[in-house]
Amino acid sequence: MMKQIDNKLLISKIRSIVKTDEFIALHEPVFMGNEKKYVNECIDTGWVSSVGKFVNQFEEQLADFVGAKRAVAVVNGTAALHIGLKIAGVNVNDEVLIPSLTFIATANAVTYCGATPHFVDIEFKTLGIDPEQLDKYLSEISHLKDGSCINKNTGKRISAIVPMHTFGHPVDLDKLIEVTEKYNITIVEDAAESLGSYYKGKHTGNFGKVSAFSFNGNKVITTGGGGAIVTNDEKLADFAKHITTTAKIPHAWEFVHDDIGYNYRMPNINAALGCAQLEQLPLFLEQKRKLSEAYSIELENVSGIKFFTEPHNSKSNYWLNTIIIEEDYLAERDNLLKDLNDAGIMARPIWKLMHKLPMYMHCPSMKLDNSINLEKRVINIPSGAKLGGQS
Ligand SMILES: *Cc1c(COP(=O)(O)O)cnc(C)c1O
Repeated sequence: MMKQIDNKLLISKIRSIVKTDEFIALHEPVFMGNEKKYVNECIDTGWVSSVGKFVNQFEEQLADFVGAKRAVAVVNGTAALHIGLKIAGVNVNDEVLIPSLTFIATANAVTYCGATPHFVDIEFKTLGIDPEQLDKYLSEISHLKDGSCINKNTGKRISAIVPMHTFGHPVDLDKLIEVTEKYNITIVEDAAESLGSYYKGKHTGNFGKVSAFSFNGNKVITTGGGGAIVTNDEKLADFAKHITTTAKIPHAWEFVHDDIGYNYRMPNINAALGCAQLEQLPLFLEQKRKLSEAYSIELENVSGIKFFTEPHNSKSNYWLNTIIIEEDYLAERDNLLKDLNDAGIMARPIWKLMHKLPMYMHCPSMKLDNSINLEKRVINIPSGAKLGGQS
């Protein structure tokens, strides 16, 4: 027999936490600091575009916060992933392991490199790639040839893997690193959702050869639109900067380019917004943590749902707060989504799995039981920093 979730109770609990009767968005940006000052400075001086001090400042301050050697600011997180994969050594005709449970950018960035996404399953405790299932799978379908991991079924090289830290919760990185070293597969982290998230005390984005961050309007901090390639390898960072700025050789007036570059640099006016946002990041993280703690306590007694909390050994930014519907209550999902949204509480299900989309349904894939199970059960609820500042 299907059981019912008490939607009214859930709505009243959420309202009591956020302390407002108004419409609540899923993740509203907050501009309480120097945003106008820095953006106005760009307009007043005319430095809005490709040159200006805020880009360098943003890159330095971001690298500093993440604890990495370098950051290269680009137009969005998707571009950061694209270039991250490319400079990590992903070539045309390679395969790249990615979770099926991710935002479309992860799969598209692989495709932009001329490579094929190869889908792997996730584990329930992190919502990210499951290293144990991965190890077992690779032992069955791959072999090492001249130091490269080759997919025995397709004959293609599996050059990289992209752990994505779902909703800010870090993947089990130690175990993942162990497995990838065994098969000689390069890690490129999709850290788009995990600015301010730590695995065993170290900031996400420091575990792969390269990582990608996003500063879209709905992320933890925003530059309007934006992203960054982060790495601890100085040479790779220099190369990333070079090819994201049209591969132009520095010169006072000549236009000479020595590679097929990309026009992916972040404009100064966006970086200005980003510098102001970075100043408030510690506060945002504190407020977001308060909000998730309140959810965790208040939602404990609502039957049929579980509030998802950070994995053991990790500190999550709780980018998007997540409730998971228990299996006996699954028929209630759409009702719950409708009632929440009708009550002015924005809620949405997780992304449709990548391997079900028309352009990716023929890609290689392992069994995706956990992803398929979770796809039906996850609901994200309002998560903006401001909501945690009310209590
Ligand atoms: C936001 C996001 C990106 C990058 O998105 P952009 O909108 O291009 O900045 C990449 N991967 C994941 C998982 C994301 O959530």
